[in-house]
Amino acid sequence: MEPTFVLDRIDAGYFADQDKRKARAYIGASGIGSPCDAYLAYSLRGFPDTPPEPRLARIFQLGHRIETLVVADLKRKAQMTVWDRDPETGQQWTYELLGGHIKTHMDGQIALDDRDGAEVLILEVKSMNKASWNKFVKHGIQKSHPGYYEQLQMMMGMSGFRRAYFIAYCKNDSSYHDEIVEFDQLVWSEQCSRIERALNGDAEKVAASVDDWRCRSCFKRDACWASAGVEARCMTCAHACPTERGGWHCARFDQPAPGEACSAWRVYKAKER
Ligand code: SF4
Ligand code: SF4
Repeated sequence: MEPTFVLDRIDAGYFADQDKRKARAYIGASGIGSPCDAYLAYSLRGFPDTPPEPRLARIFQLGHRIETLVVADLKRKAQMTVWDRDPETGQQWTYELLGGHIKTHMDGQIALDDRDGAEVLILEVKSMNKASWNKFVKHGIQKSHPGYYEQLQMMMGMSGFRRAYFIAYCKNDSSYHDEIVEFDQLVWSEQCSRIERALNGDAEKVAASVDDWRCRSCFKRDACWASAGVEARCMTCAHACPTERGGWHCARFDQPAPGEACSAWRVYKAKER
């Protein structure tokens, strides 16, 4: 039986939502797992994302809903103390460097009781399909999902926490698995060097061609290889450099970048390999 027109309408709704989405303009912990320095530079400068297919967008949406469910299980079933919002702001926990050019958000903070007494750790929640979840159970997060491991390291590096509690929910059968991840100063130092390159305009593409396997799943691929959809603004301009206070400086006219592009705007491009 052929499906009805309704499914096309659902997908059309997702495509319409994508048009309204604005890319974030900072280097975030969720992106540090990318192997590409250019990806960090494009994120910093708010280059647009290649929109995900509706099916992928629904997977992300489901992931967010599952996160809420997992936090509720931790609080109500496991009776853990979880702060999923910063009590000072009422918003998601956020840590920033350089006036917001570098940012990390947390799913929460959790008090774990252990032999040393209650300790507060970063809480990070992920949902996984069965194959992915099996890998996590067998190998541990550092080996099974290096991107998530890098994300946790950056979160710890920026916030000062030295341990993180990672919990995964299997979407196929609702099983749980978890792990406590320790801070690794060497990983954080390497991340700082990568961030430095993105800030200084020294970021290089990880690949020599858009057909490279690492580019296929990269959300910046259209902006990266074809400057597609890039809005003319100071932060996307090759002459703009990030400042320590979260703003931009125009090297062309040696003045604070006004934000709106001028006639000397030239699109920023990461270094080719
Ligand atoms: S498309 Fe490839 S080279 Fe470009 S930012 Fe993404 S991973 Fe890096
Ligand atoms: S003022 Fe013009 S040249 Fe300077 S950063 Fe903005 S767009 Fe670029």
